[in-house]
Amino acid sequence: MSAAGLFVQSYSHDPEGVFSAPGRVNLIGEHTDYTGGLVLPFAIDARAWMAAARNDDSVVRVVSAQRPGAVKTVALEDIYPDSPAVRSWAGYLFGAIWALRQAGHQVSGFDLALDSQVPTGAGLSSSAAVECVTALVVSNLSGITLAPLEIARLSQQAENDFVGVPCGPMDQTASAASRAGSVLLFDSRAGTVENIPFNPSADDLAVLVIDTKVTHSLADGEYARRRASCERATTVLGIRTLRDLSLDELPAALDKLDDDVLRRRVRHVVTENDRVVQTVELLRAGRISAIGDLMVASHRSLQHDYEVSCPELDQAVDSALSAGAVGARMTGGGFGGSVIALIPTELVETVMSGVNADFAMRGFTTAVPRIVAPADGARRDE
Ligand code: ADP
Ligand code: MG
Repeated sequence: MSAAGLFVQSYSHDPEGVFSAPGRVNLIGEHTDYTGGLVLPFAIDARAWMAAARNDDSVVRVVSAQRPGAVKTVALEDIYPDSPAVRSWAGYLFGAIWALRQAGHQVSGFDLALDSQVPTGAGLSSSAAVECVTALVVSNLSGITLAPLEIARLSQQAENDFVGVPCGPMDQTASAASRAGSVLLFDSRAGTVENIPFNPSADDLAVLVIDTKVTHSLADGEYARRRASCERATTVLGIRTLRDLSLDELPAALDKLDDDVLRRRVRHVVTENDRVVQTVELLRAGRISAIGDLMVASHRSLQHDYEVSCPELDQAVDSALSAGAVGARMTGGGFGGSVIALIPTELVETVMSGVNADFAMRGFTTAVPRIVAPADGARRDE
């Protein structure tokens, strides 16, 4: 059922509008967005749709096609972090409304119906899609025009301060500000974005996202530890973010750190920022297949220096490369989730059967492939 269909079924009247926001995948620039770095994600053609209308009851009602059950109704005044009235999946929606009101926007009650094609927990940011579509729906129908970066900022605030997940700004920025046919260069230090044309099919290439179907319980704690390591390094080095360290300055900076683990963490972030710059230069020069080596270097850095990979991700990368992928790397936070691979279109089947033959040999769960293409960010559809 569509979001509009679910809306009519749940509330017995028509919605005022239907909006959508996409999931995302990151081409390169991993674990850099929380220390001022550069990232290069794009929105994918799987979206969270939301049908909505204002109400005069000072309550927010929500329902999701992916969460069978009754409509949840919460009074506007009961929407705050840790509110006993707001639990579970609905926190992503209520959190976006809370963030809007925190920013001083006047918002009435709303009836909302969500229907998302973005799979959850596959590293494609279903949570950012839900937050961004909610922030856009509620602001737009309230007559408030927010720039994509403001939608992203409020959505990140919802995830950080309402849901309680300490993510960086990349996911929400990609979902809000991407454009079809391009990747999004996001400079998280400057807070600026640029759409860089990216059309792999013109070069007979496809982008394949390989979902390993694994989540390791390590992920949350290790993510927090990586962030803490970056902060410790900036303190020792007397800089604000690791972005403030150029590749030329890296050797001298590493000499100042007396801990080998910390040195490798810093080396990942600084070299990864440089790989994003190089990737953008190659894309601008129309040399898409040349980015493959940078993707592989990114993976090795995440595997050995940043230590956020896992056996399934490493195997998927190695198998994809030996079956003919031009480049492959883990994408997203790591410890499970997905690999992104750039593949000659005629080899897509070969790569996937190669990955799954190797997975079967190692006793891993069958991986799930998904071809993705760069899509538009959050928008009004009807
Ligand atoms: P992801 O990597 O997909 O963003 P997260 O754990 O960050 O994984 O977010 C997934 C959560 O977002 C789900 O557990 C659920 O609470 C919420 N969510 C995402 N899509 C939907 C949906 N269609 N309906 C209800 N909740 C959703
Ligand atoms: Mg998420």
